Amino acid sequence: MDKQAELKKLEDEAREVLKKPGTNLVFGEGSPAAQVMFIGEAPGFHEDRLGRPFVGAAGKLLDKLLARAGLKRAEVYIANVLKNRPPENRDPLPEEITEAARFLDGQISIIDPQVIVTLGRFSMGKFMPGVKITQVHGVPKRVGRRVVVPMFHPAAALRAGSVMKLLEEDFSKLPAVLAHPEEIRGEGEDPNQLSLI
Ligand code: URA
Repeated sequence: MDKQAELKKLEDEAREVLKKPGTNLVFGEGSPAAQVMFIGEAPGFHEDRLGRPFVGAAGKLLDKLLARAGLKRAEVYIANVLKNRPPENRDPLPEEITEAARFLDGQISIIDPQVIVTLGRFSMGKFMPGVKITQVHGVPKRVGRRVVVPMFHPAAALRAGSVMKLLEEDFSKLPAVLAHPEEIRGEGEDPNQLSLI
């Protein structure tokens, strides 16, 4: 089965398993062959209405940042930790994150991106539990086979000019990470030792 078909199968399954009254499933979208995957928090009002991730105000900002980094929306993959809009846009609950995790994990394993950009603290927490976004934003880190770049959520940037500046700076560093993800080391990895392997 090709990646597109595998994603479709997973989406069909998510539609069955994650049925929530009054909400639409927002599975994710983009290239199944993406080198980079962006992971947000949860669908909002506009995403729920259209069944697509990042199509509201935060999505418009994401589109702008992608374009500035030389990326087309169609060549990346965009998903969320939760696949359904939480009531009144509240924060995801731990049990909701757990319930949706196998679908996000499935998307990551099918797409197999070299680089994952987390948008906001909920997706960052999946890969870097216990860290503070104010301390690690924009710093790429190797997590297993992939490089994870934690970034602020675009909605937070829309609320505060200082965060917007940091998000723009972090995004401007993304092309270099995508050009050479292999150069990003994990914690405690000795580059000299690695070259011997
Ligand atoms: N915020 C998110 O985290 N995800 C979306 O899809 C839209 C807004």
